[in-house]
Amino acid sequence: MDKETLIAGLIKDGYLKTPRVIEAFRAVDRKDFVPEADKNSAYENIPLLIGYSQTISQPLTVAFMLELLEPRGGEKILDIGSGSGWQMTLLAFLVKDEEIKTGKIVAIERIPELKKFAEENISRYPDLKPVVRLELGDGSFGFSDEAPFDKIIAAAAAEKIPTAWKEQLKIGGRIVAPVKDSIIVLDKISKEEFTPRQYFGFDFVPLIGA
Ligand code: SAM
Repeated sequence: MDKETLIAGLIKDGYLKTPRVIEAFRAVDRKDFVPEADKNSAYENIPLLIGYSQTISQPLTVAFMLELLEPRGGEKILDIGSGSGWQMTLLAFLVKDEEIKTGKIVAIERIPELKKFAEENISRYPDLKPVVRLELGDGSFGFSDEAPFDKIIAAAAAEKIPTAWKEQLKIGGRIVAPVKDSIIVLDKISKEEFTPRQYFGFDFVPLIGA
């Protein structure tokens, strides 16, 4: 499959909807984020191994979660479990705002070799690299140095949404994260109140942390 066939399929099946997210899928090439041995499979709609028992997520899952997150130019977003760096770089494309010169992705990965892999991969996008701060650590604590965030997204499944993420989210902000085999969307409507939505039937690697 080629990139345009993958994107056309994601649009036809309703996973990709928003012109800017579709533009991001065209601009940030999944092939740049998969290991050498799998370059020929980069546009298959399947997760692919990236080493250390981890995967680059399935394109339909990334499309579905980004459409739920609704990233906007100028926002500061926390990306937990950066893995290959594909979703992190898609997010950088979506928040980069030439006019107001803001927009930032704070990304956290717990496996040093994968952090390095993501750094190498995003280097192919020199205009997006400065938008991202990539850190090694346990993302289940969020990243208090950069809080509060407009949005938080995770690529590994927790047993429940960590309290730190809820605390580090701005009022009016949104979390999109897997919990067990569902995707949960939480909209923060006041300091203590969240409106939840749940989408069933997904499969994620576990969030390994506190
Ligand atoms: N978005 C990624 C991509 O585009 O390649 C998907 C990566 S994979 C599905 C999930 C990642 O979460 C793995 O790289 C894993 O090491 C990482 N991870 C798991 N638990 C974590 C934690 N507590 N803190 C940070 N990263 C974590």
